Amino acid sequence: MTERVSVAIVGGGPAGIAAALALRARGITGVTVLEREDSAGGVPRHCGHPPFGMREFGRILDGPAYARRLCRSATEAGVDIRLGTSVTALHPSGRLVVTTPAGVGELIADRVVLATGAREAPRSARFVTGDRPIGVITTGTLQHSIYIERLKPFRRPVIVGTELVSLSAVLTCWKAGIRPVAVVEAGDRSTARRPLGLFPRLLGIPIHYGASISDIRGGGRVEAVDLQLSDGSTREVACDGVLLTGRFVPESALARLSHLKVDAGSGGPVIDQYGRCSDPTYFAAGNLLRPIETAGWSFREGKRIGNFVADDIEGALPVSDRAIGIECGSGLKLAVPQRIAVPSAHAGLGHLQLRVSAVGKGTLRAESEGRTIWQRRMSVLPERRILIPLADLLAAGTTAGAISISFETDGTA
Ligand SMILES: Cc1cc2nc3c(=O)[nH]c(=O)nc-3n(C[C@H](O)[C@H](O)[C@H](O)COP(=O)(O)OP(=O)(O)OC[C@H]3O[C@@H](n4cnc5c(N)ncnc54)[C@H](O)[C@@H]3O)c2cc1C
Repeated sequence: MTERVSVAIVGGGPAGIAAALALRARGITGVTVLEREDSAGGVPRHCGHPPFGMREFGRILDGPAYARRLCRSATEAGVDIRLGTSVTALHPSGRLVVTTPAGVGELIADRVVLATGAREAPRSARFVTGDRPIGVITTGTLQHSIYIERLKPFRRPVIVGTELVSLSAVLTCWKAGIRPVAVVEAGDRSTARRPLGLFPRLLGIPIHYGASISDIRGGGRVEAVDLQLSDGSTREVACDGVLLTGRFVPESALARLSHLKVDAGSGGPVIDQYGRCSDPTYFAAGNLLRPIETAGWSFREGKRIGNFVADDIEGALPVSDRAIGIECGSGLKLAVPQRIAVPSAHAGLGHLQLRVSAVGKGTLRAESEGRTIWQRRMSVLPERRILIPLADLLAAGTTAGAISISFETDGTA
């Protein structure tokens, strides 16, 4: 028999739990979180370090404590959290295929919130050549090994990448007594903002900018890597592991295989300013929308979108008859939301979130019908969010079907 619920939330990480809490706070019953793992809480379950939870719970927690707190709050609020429950297909009108140890079933929800998060690209997606020895892993696997399994996957790894999670990986290694032998960055500066980018150096770990791994060698386990350096030379570095960090991608396989529109830039579902997908039964929140933001950001976003879902159930969300598309022009990697539903009488997500493709200094410009409707000079980094108030774009009174955003660089930041 097909079960019916009011709201099904796919994914029990910070975004999904926050959406559930917001819905319950608005008095919506039948709020069900479907989580494929055997505990909810999402990525923070594996992050055995602070700081999590300051704005949500008014205290600094480590990841596992934060994840437990999320789950406890949801259970106390009357959210039905179903563990070991994978959603394996999405169909129109909120019909979900659900797989549990008991078998495959179907669930129909009046509204669905997708909050399946993001993950790091594995080696196979990065085209790193060489042998296939043990010891080539991502940060997620490192954190799971150290904080959950209490195992050290290596002792002297080379770390690839320098964005914020890469630096958190350096910290995880250091705390576990693992001593990285080098950090390798393809760009000519750290992706994380200064002075954070200097953090490996402070620990005495050499950083190679403009460099990449050209070969991984080893029989059973990693024994060495060849680095292609910025001056064109190659250097062998002895190590027993390779940690691939960053290069995040939204966990959007479900959306891609469904009837929902997926955005090529962000890799997540196309949404409007209320988090509404191309099928208005579906909403999306958290790192599924774009790689990646912190747990705190994902929680706040989940909460806001949970409130829009409640508005929708109460009939207060405008049914849009038209949308202004947001187009990413030169220099831009992604924009979220990708469409602004008009008329936009109801306050939605306050900002357009943007990411650029490369480090630079220049002008961020929004144009509609060949005229500039907003512009600002700024220094940018690819992993750092840029926000444009949606009200500023709408105040310009565009009547066209699209706004094009571009970043024109005039130098390196
Ligand atoms: C390796 C790594 C390290 C990070 N470190 C930090 C950090 O130190 N601090 C920080 O603030 N942020 C960190 N982040 C960012 C992190 O993604 C956010 O903190 C936050 O967890 C995002 O919340 P979310 O709810 O969007 O997604 P997630 O936390 O990823 O939660 C998504 C949930 O959806 C579930 N799910 C996925 N698909 C399905 C399905 N088909 N059916 C059912 N359930 C499903 C997953 O099991 C998961 O529980 C890190 C991210 C990664 C990948």
